[in-house]
Amino acid sequence: MLRKTFLFLLLALGLLLAVLVVNTLRFTPKQPAALPARPAMARAAAESDSALAHLQRLVRFQTVSYEDSSRLDTAQFLGLHRFLRRTYPRLHRQLSRELVGRYTLLYRWAGRDSSLRPAVLLAHQDVVPIEPATRGQWRFPPFGGTVAEGQLWGRGSTDNKANLTAQCEAVEHLLAQGVQPERTVYFVFGHDEEVGGKAGARRVAGLLRQRGVVPEFVLDEGLFVTAERIPGMQGRPVALIGTAEKGFLTLELSAAVNGGHSSIPEATTALGLVSQAVTTLNGHAFEAALTPSMQQFADHVGPHLPFGQRLAFANRWLFTPLILSTYLKSAGGAAAVRTTMVPTIFQSGVKDNVVPTAARATLNLRLLPGLSSAAALAQVRAWLPDPRVKVTVVPNEIAEPSPETGQPAAALGYQLIERHIRQQVPEVITTPFLFVAASDSRHFATLTPNVYKFSPMTDPVALHGINEHLSVASFQHCLGFYEGLLRDLR
Ligand SMILES: [Zn+2]
Repeated sequence: MLRKTFLFLLLALGLLLAVLVVNTLRFTPKQPAALPARPAMARAAAESDSALAHLQRLVRFQTVSYEDSSRLDTAQFLGLHRFLRRTYPRLHRQLSRELVGRYTLLYRWAGRDSSLRPAVLLAHQDVVPIEPATRGQWRFPPFGGTVAEGQLWGRGSTDNKANLTAQCEAVEHLLAQGVQPERTVYFVFGHDEEVGGKAGARRVAGLLRQRGVVPEFVLDEGLFVTAERIPGMQGRPVALIGTAEKGFLTLELSAAVNGGHSSIPEATTALGLVSQAVTTLNGHAFEAALTPSMQQFADHVGPHLPFGQRLAFANRWLFTPLILSTYLKSAGGAAAVRTTMVPTIFQSGVKDNVVPTAARATLNLRLLPGLSSAAALAQVRAWLPDPRVKVTVVPNEIAEPSPETGQPAAALGYQLIERHIRQQVPEVITTPFLFVAASDSRHFATLTPNVYKFSPMTDPVALHGINEHLSVASFQHCLGFYEGLLRDLR
């Protein structure tokens, strides 16, 4: 009897191994066939130099955006606009130009075939401030636009003036050659992306909706090419094309109870209640899951991984818990597979001997596709049953995650991105991925499901940080990418 059971188990195990191995062997690359060789897209060296000089000039405009828009240095934005006008005369002659929300630029390049749905390309003019305390740690002046060591240094070099410059260069260059795209193209250069895009990109999206514009696709900054961040790829570059975006939700936890003199404190204080609530939430986590874009990532990148990892990705019906536990070990991995929740502001108290009557904590959540803000709020409330702690939504700080529908890899916009990043980085693997932050393009999500978040740069460094810089090689890729994509915009 025992022997029979043992034999049965052995047989079952053998069968399981066979299934795993067969699945792994059938797990083959999903990369499109290479394009036929094209005439060289490389620009003349002199043209590249002038494009780089234009990016340097753009970085020198201190177009910093602030939550409080009255702090905006409007002269910097107007200076940048004048610079664009002077530098790209053909673009300004042949494209229509509108100002939206005062400083956001909306250009329209009419295509040859007005029956085709237009494309929308985004970039933003504004940058985040330099923390005054860190100014001394910059190796080059933060708004200097210095070119040194094969890099362009400065705030905005990567985020996001390289995209803006490269798009303008591409249009100017194509116009000089008499090229007109098949489809109409809108260019949206926001002025308040870093503070949510409410005065800029959101208004543009509203305007386009009013005008009945239904884009074929929208392309914005977001993810990149990485040669470093995918374990197991041994340095082979992977273009992560953001096809879905997490939502966000900001909550306030608050308590109000009697305060008084700190020499005769009550057992319960507002500060105590709110800090207890934050501690309680630290002990909870939203469930992890591989959402559709991450499943697609596993399908696209998995076949290129070493055998062990390939086996796990090819047999997700069995190994999803293992894959998720691996992702959850790092902050970056965890952000891609679960709704995150973190306290970001804590406010209470005015004086050392006064027990405060009120306390507040701000909690920022980033919602995985599939979890609505209402469901997330209900979950947080369920974790905090104490009625003395109120959980409320901070107005306007709420955005639903993108609906993940269909097969993005089959859509025109995705395929154009894929094709033209491969023209720049021939050995690249392309894949859908989940964008865990938020950018201006989220305002366009109601106009089309085809919204992509991708910049044609490789492993940019220190976005929003000290010594932000971009390699000159990456900038060359930006130039070639947008020019190729616009030329090919069928
Ligand atoms: Zn940006």
